[in-house]
Amino acid sequence: MALRKLVAGNWKMNGSLEALAELDAIAAAAREQAGVDVAVCPPFTLIAPAAQRQPGLAIGAQDCHGNAKGAHTGCVSAAMLAEAGAKLAIVGHSERRADQHETDAEVQAKAVAAIGAGLTAIVCVGETEAERDAGRAVAVVEGQLDGSIPRDGKAATLVVAYEPVWAIGTGRTPSTADVAEMHAAIRTKLGALLGGEGPGVRILYGGSVKPDNARELLAVADVDGALVGGASLTAAQFVPIIEGA
Ligand code: PGA
Repeated sequence: MALRKLVAGNWKMNGSLEALAELDAIAAAAREQAGVDVAVCPPFTLIAPAAQRQPGLAIGAQDCHGNAKGAHTGCVSAAMLAEAGAKLAIVGHSERRADQHETDAEVQAKAVAAIGAGLTAIVCVGETEAERDAGRAVAVVEGQLDGSIPRDGKAATLVVAYEPVWAIGTGRTPSTADVAEMHAAIRTKLGALLGGEGPGVRILYGGSVKPDNARELLAVADVDGALVGGASLTAAQFVPIIEGA
């Protein structure tokens, strides 16, 4: 089943009010590529100004809390993000799983909270290099999906991003055969977890997606889009990726 592609940018802890000027050309490209969904996920503080600057462009967050409100100093709830203008939330990025020690159960709670607030949740999974070298990549990702995917996930509001940890920010990518194998395994697992909703959940590839490899990666079976870090920071690099989808 060919799903509508989603190209999402993850600015991580980069950007500024001035950098939001990049959104103008990104939004124009998104309008031109009517068959592709485009999103940009800047830091929390830039969500509202980004959404105000380009109301037609989907703006997302890079995290949300798993609870609706309460005594969680420094945290932001999914409803707050929605109020600020966010349409999506990335949850369980490997940098957060590593730096903030987020567990699968916490990631699942965040995904449930995001979807409950009306956001699309992009749940990230991916193996480390040691896990791939040990031949455990598929098993690791299946385990993360088991733990992180909301059991009542609906295809319209749930997205999975496969991001091999060793490919993030390194300029290295898996072979297209390895991407195909993993995305097929994720598709099968989503069917087991979500039944009839599984085939409609978009599976993004992420990790060193650049203008010169996007077209090839996005043509792989069951690659329904891309989650793009470094190359999403400028329109000069992000727009060709959108066009490659
Ligand atoms: P990268 O990051 O494109 O810079 O490798 C991807 C990500 O971490 O989402």
